[in-house]
Amino acid sequence: MGDDVFGEDPTVNALEMEAARRLGKEAALFVASGTMGNLVALLTHCEAGDEVLVGDQAHIFQREVGAAARVAGLMISTLPNESDGGFDPERVRRMVRGSDLHEPRTRLLTLENTHNYLGGAVLSVARTRALTAVAREMGLRIHLDGARIFNAALAVDASAAELAASCDSVGFCLSKGLAAPVGSLLCGEAPFIERARKHRKMLGGGMRQAGVLAAAGLVALREMVSRLAADHANARRLAWGLAELGLPVDVERIQTNIVVVPVPGGDGRAFQRALAERGVLATVISGGRARFVTHYGIEGQDVDEALSRVEAVLPERLVKDVAE
Ligand SMILES: *Cc1c(COP(=O)(O)O)cnc(C)c1O
Repeated sequence: MGDDVFGEDPTVNALEMEAARRLGKEAALFVASGTMGNLVALLTHCEAGDEVLVGDQAHIFQREVGAAARVAGLMISTLPNESDGGFDPERVRRMVRGSDLHEPRTRLLTLENTHNYLGGAVLSVARTRALTAVAREMGLRIHLDGARIFNAALAVDASAAELAASCDSVGFCLSKGLAAPVGSLLCGEAPFIERARKHRKMLGGGMRQAGVLAAAGLVALREMVSRLAADHANARRLAWGLAELGLPVDVERIQTNIVVVPVPGGDGRAFQRALAERGVLATVISGGRARFVTHYGIEGQDVDEALSRVEAVLPERLVKDVAE
C-alpha cells in the first residue's frame, strides 16, 4: 500500500480511475461515506452564502445533519419532490434568483437517483435531462446524489454514465447494494476533483493507507453491479407479499431494491421493534412509513420467511380484514 494523501496508493488510484470511467467522468475521489461525498461536492461547487436547490425529501436535506448549512455555510431552498424523485422544471426556473443586491446567489441544483425516501424511485434519463437543461440554462451547476445510481441504471436499462451525463458531479456508494464494507466515490471533471480533494482533506477524510478499503471497492464495482437484478426481483417479491398481507403497497411502483410502506397500526417504533425481535430489520422514516431494503445475502426464500414474520406482528384487525 501507499499513502493516499500523497496520491500514492495504487489500489485507491485504480478504484478512482475505474469509478470515473464507469460514471463517464474525468476523475473520481474516494471518500468515507455518501454523506461526505455530498458535503465535499457542496463545498466544491459553492461558496459560503450561496443558495442550493434541493428536493424536500432529499437525503441531503433530511439526513445529513444540516451539514450544508453548518459546515458549508449554504442556504438550502427546497423543491417539492414528485413521485419519481424529480420536480417540476418550471418551478426550478422560477426559484433561481437574479442579481438583486439583497439576494443570495443561487448556485447549485441537486438531484437524487434512486430516491431513497421515495421508495427507491428512479429518475429516467429524459427526466434528468429536462431538469438539468433548465438548471444549466439558468446558470446553475448540478450535483447528482447517486448513492444507488447502479440500481437506477438497471431499472431504466441505461448506463450509470448516461444517467450522470448532464450532471457536473455524481456521488455513489460502494457500501449499499454493491456490498462493500465502506466507501463512496465522488466523480466529476478533473479540476473539480482536484479542488474536492482539498475539501476532503479539510473534513478529515484523507485516509492514508486506504488501499485495503479500496480493494473491497474494486470488487464491489467489478462483481456486485451485475447481481443487483436479484435484489430488484426480491424487492418486488416482498412488495407482492406485503400487498397480499393487506398493506397498501403499489407493487407497480417498486422499481429497485427498496420497499416503503405505511406502518400498519401507525406506531412505527413498535412495529420496528417487533420485527427486529423476530430478526427482520426495517427502518422507520418520517410520515409513519417503514422502509425495507433487499440486498446481497438475501434470497427469495428469505423474503418469504420475512413475510411470514411480518404477518406475525401485524395488528389483529389488519389480518382479520384480509381474511374476510
Ligand atoms: C445512504 C445515502 C447517502 C449517504 O450515505 P452514507 O454512506 O450513509 O453517508 C446519501 N444519499 C442517499 C440517497 C443515500 O441513500
